[in-house]
Amino acid sequence: MPPTPPLGHRVARLYGALRCVTCHSPLRNADDALRCTACDARYPVVRGCPVLLTDTMRKTFAVHLESDDGRRMVGEYGAAASASTSVTKPSWTRWLKPPPVMYRYHPDLLKPPTSVLFDPVNGAPPLTLSVGGGPYRVGDHEITLNIGLFPNVDMVADAHDIPIADNTFDAVFSLAVLEHVADPYRVVSEMIRVLKPGGILYSEIPFIFFFHGYPTDYTRFTREGMKRLFRGLESPEVGMTHGPVSAILQSANMLMAMCLPARPRLIRKAFNGLFRCFAFPLKYLDLPLRTHPDAHILAGGFYVLGRKPSDA
Ligand SMILES: [Zn+2]
Repeated sequence: MPPTPPLGHRVARLYGALRCVTCHSPLRNADDALRCTACDARYPVVRGCPVLLTDTMRKTFAVHLESDDGRRMVGEYGAAASASTSVTKPSWTRWLKPPPVMYRYHPDLLKPPTSVLFDPVNGAPPLTLSVGGGPYRVGDHEITLNIGLFPNVDMVADAHDIPIADNTFDAVFSLAVLEHVADPYRVVSEMIRVLKPGGILYSEIPFIFFFHGYPTDYTRFTREGMKRLFRGLESPEVGMTHGPVSAILQSANMLMAMCLPARPRLIRKAFNGLFRCFAFPLKYLDLPLRTHPDAHILAGGFYVLGRKPSDA
């Protein structure tokens, strides 16, 4: 029987694995909501998206999202959604956009539908969880979890307490999310818990990168810190997402913009564009640095790729 209330088609694949945030029991349909089969806690479903939060979580996230950084983030997410649904701009307009000053190693790890990582074994789309996903979607098979009803979010929940049964997903990933959570160790342990044994985890975290409140920003990890954070994976591979030159260029851009007046905003925006146009060729110096044994000490960020142990 199809789940009622109607869940979005992506999260409907999880019906049966959804769990109560309070007591971790299975959930059942109940009119316009989901209810816990044990403690009767009620979770609303809004436009197909289940909101699996306790009152405490709801209040904490509301405080973050109503801060200055939180309001800016919500505005950006809304703009990203309307840009993606607006009439397609002519392709030449992308040439007017200044190039990024950060050179990304391994761009194939991010290309939709991240087929390198998440290729299905038997043709069925892999059950993939994106922790902190939205407002963009990396691939169509991705089920996104975030703290609010933003565009392209399939379920609202707290990554510290993922309301999903153990051993559910073929793959779990998070892109520049773990620096924004209060307890990254707990979130990683939850990401591994919901992975099937042998399932793939991929995560990226910035290192030398400016403070960015989305809606908060708490932590950076060194290469050694990444190894420790993801030690629950079977022989995880840790590498740089961005090298030292990218990190310095991005920091220099931010520093120089900081020395300009904040208003009108156009001044900093124009400077940012000019800086990127002139400085971007330097980012290719990161190519020879890719194998330098000391490059990690100033890296822009790191990724980890590993599997949940089969005997877990
Ligand atoms: Zn319950």
